[in-house]
Amino acid sequence: MIRSFLRPVTIYDACQQMRDHGENAVLVAGATHVVNELHRGLINPSVLVDIYRLNGLDVICMEGEELMLGSLVTISELIASSVVRQFVPALCQAAQSVGGKQRRNRGTLGGSIVHADPGDEILSVLSAFDCCVVLKDIEGERVLDLREFISGIRQTTIRNDEILTEVRIRLPERGSRMSFRKVSRRNASSSSVMNLTCLLLLKDNRIVCARLALGSVLTKAHRMSDAEVLLAQKKPSRTLFEKAGSLVLNQALQEAESEGLGIVDSVGSYKFSLMPHFVAQVLTETWERKE
Ligand SMILES: Cc1cc2nc3c(=O)[nH]c(=O)nc-3n(C[C@H](O)[C@H](O)[C@H](O)COP(=O)(O)OP(=O)(O)OC[C@H]3O[C@@H](n4cnc5c(N)ncnc54)[C@H](O)[C@@H]3O)c2cc1C
Repeated sequence: MIRSFLRPVTIYDACQQMRDHGENAVLVAGATHVVNELHRGLINPSVLVDIYRLNGLDVICMEGEELMLGSLVTISELIASSVVRQFVPALCQAAQSVGGKQRRNRGTLGGSIVHADPGDEILSVLSAFDCCVVLKDIEGERVLDLREFISGIRQTTIRNDEILTEVRIRLPERGSRMSFRKVSRRNASSSSVMNLTCLLLLKDNRIVCARLALGSVLTKAHRMSDAEVLLAQKKPSRTLFEKAGSLVLNQALQEAESEGLGIVDSVGSYKFSLMPHFVAQVLTETWERKE
């Protein structure tokens, strides 16, 4: 039963309160997941530490070649930000696809990352970039690569007394084209059956560098390195993109097997059969985009 609802005014106080109450406390930002988990009886804290009104964690700004996003930036704020739209348009596209206006208005970037759902569209886009998270506690901070931070399905390496304060995205080379697309069951805003973030840097009609992050298929969003290698230094064409689609399928099947995931249910076989065509389509769209 919840006995205390705490509203710290500084990050330090929030970390101290989380440390004082240990495993009995749950940190709350926009609360879209926490309330859901409370209702379903999946968590039973006696203390909630609400950080939603902490100052300074809703900042979006450029620092050199990095885009800095405060952990309390909401999904709606990602959509509205001209900086995000200009430098990481795929993040804007993914945010637009998150279902429900109230969820977009309340749900935060930090909540998305710490919840670590393999189907989370925001996380999928971040996985396509070199991206770090900053974690603070009462003793200081540590900076982790996003790949080290997410350890599995809804699992991260955060400690209970740590707060994720910001995300730093190293921007790809200027002129990179990017897209985010998802396959969903009902409409564009329902949850992903599968999603793909694609980045292409082209020079003189050759692909200099390609990045593909596949989400909602494996235990976490994965870079599709075999297809990335195939695409590098090639002239873009429909045939090349179809080959890349086949390589993504092969890699995803291998990774699913090594992660012990079943792919024989109806959703599994549907997404795998769709995958090569979906990947080729997203690559084509990205290629045809203006820089
Ligand atoms: C019904 C439903 C449907 C959804 N649909 C989609 C969808 O279609 N696409 C999509 O991408 N997402 C979707 N989401 C996910 C949701 O939008 C995001 O995960 C959201 O941004 C969560 O943010 P929050 O602030 O509400 O998290 P909260 O509920 O406040 O917290 C979630 C978890 O993260 C922890 N946490 C939050 N912030 C921090 C922090 N700064 N530091 C440390 N720990 C922290 C909390 O302790 C908790 O464990 C859905 C969620 C729900 C409940």
